[in-house]
Amino acid sequence: MKDSCFNEFDPNALNVEDALGVILQSIKTKKTCESVKLKSAYKRVLAKDIKATKDIPNYKNSAMDGYAVNITEISGNNFVFNCIGESFAGHPFKGKVKPNNAIKVMTGALVPDACNAVIMKEMVKEKDNMISVRSKIAKNQNIRFPGEDIKKNDLVLSKGKIIDEIDIGILASLGESDVYVYTKPLIGFFSTGDELVSLGNPVIKSQVYDSNRYLLHGLLQKYPVKIRDYGVVKDNMTSIIKKLKKASSECDLLLTTGGVSVGDADFVRDALNKLGKINFWKIAVKPGRPLAYGKIDKCLFFGLPGNPVSVVVTFNLFVDAAIKKISGQIIRRTLSLEAKLESDIKKRKGRKEYKRGVLSVDKGKLFVKCLGSQGSNILSSLKNANCYIELGESINSINKGAYVKVIPFELESEYYD
Ligand code: AMP
Ligand code: MG
Repeated sequence: MKDSCFNEFDPNALNVEDALGVILQSIKTKKTCESVKLKSAYKRVLAKDIKATKDIPNYKNSAMDGYAVNITEISGNNFVFNCIGESFAGHPFKGKVKPNNAIKVMTGALVPDACNAVIMKEMVKEKDNMISVRSKIAKNQNIRFPGEDIKKNDLVLSKGKIIDEIDIGILASLGESDVYVYTKPLIGFFSTGDELVSLGNPVIKSQVYDSNRYLLHGLLQKYPVKIRDYGVVKDNMTSIIKKLKKASSECDLLLTTGGVSVGDADFVRDALNKLGKINFWKIAVKPGRPLAYGKIDKCLFFGLPGNPVSVVVTFNLFVDAAIKKISGQIIRRTLSLEAKLESDIKKRKGRKEYKRGVLSVDKGKLFVKCLGSQGSNILSSLKNANCYIELGESINSINKGAYVKVIPFELESEYYD
């Protein structure tokens, strides 16, 4: 059969899961690591497991401003203690505590070993260093114990985790001033197309501004990677080969957009065939079926489609996983939900489709509307959407009221007013 993107059923097209499997299997994580200061570790990929070198908290301390006492030998609910000293955060009480003594303690201050309860300041009456309490006191009340948060030798963070603000806080509480992270891979990209004009120049009819490079630059921002923009390349074999050679010799991963289909001006696939190896180029997905995946020497290569929506969908589905794997990240499955369809959807069997939709919540139930314009050139369908509606290969048209699989872009609801 002639190569074509016309048929929905294409025996040579890989399904999404298999394609993802091929991609992940073919990629090795970059081995190089570097030590960075804790603040600079934000959003970097942790390169080794972190075990706690101490208990957190590392001493018995008070959860309240109040009085530390020993209740072992007392009972009832009317007590009098003699307050013999104070313990402040950073300035512990150093004397001896006898039965019926109390130590005034502040939040976070060391609770003497001899004490086993802290009474809230608001619960006592104080006069001439004597404090009286008219309520029950429970053993260990208002005391924070060593290791209550993190125990010494616990695995705190796993290799491959993206370090977020909470991790930074935890690492700081463990005293880790420097962190081992994977070095950032270099991701390069260029656009192909005779019709493309770079920003700052006028466009005439028959030309379009090159939006894909900006789109890709934006998409790549959230990853722990270095980014290199190789500009626009004309639709001719010589120019494409020249640029592929240069960029692939410099980058860990190279992305191109356009020129990967079967048109007379589509040279990317042939160029890739000449310079390197193609793993596959057709995937049973809509939008985005023509997508070349392969390697030029050590550089991984994705020839993404030209239409902007296809760029985003294939990036989300495949490039995302590839970047995570090269950069050493743990790869998680995407979170999906089930929502009730608020409009009919037209679809043919044969390809997995990612429609753009609007997910909403009404009285605790999830609803999803499929947006009207689903063309792979209509970038505003992504602007107006907050989720993908994922419809499997075997699904035909589907009616309002049915439940569908939804992948939220971000877990936010409607505007706050
Ligand atoms: P192609 O895959 O090269 O046949 O391109 C498919 C469609 O995407 C055509 O309408 C192109 O004009 C458009 N397109 C390709 N590359 C870009 C780009 N970098 N920016 C905006 N549109 C593009
Ligand atoms: Mg083109």
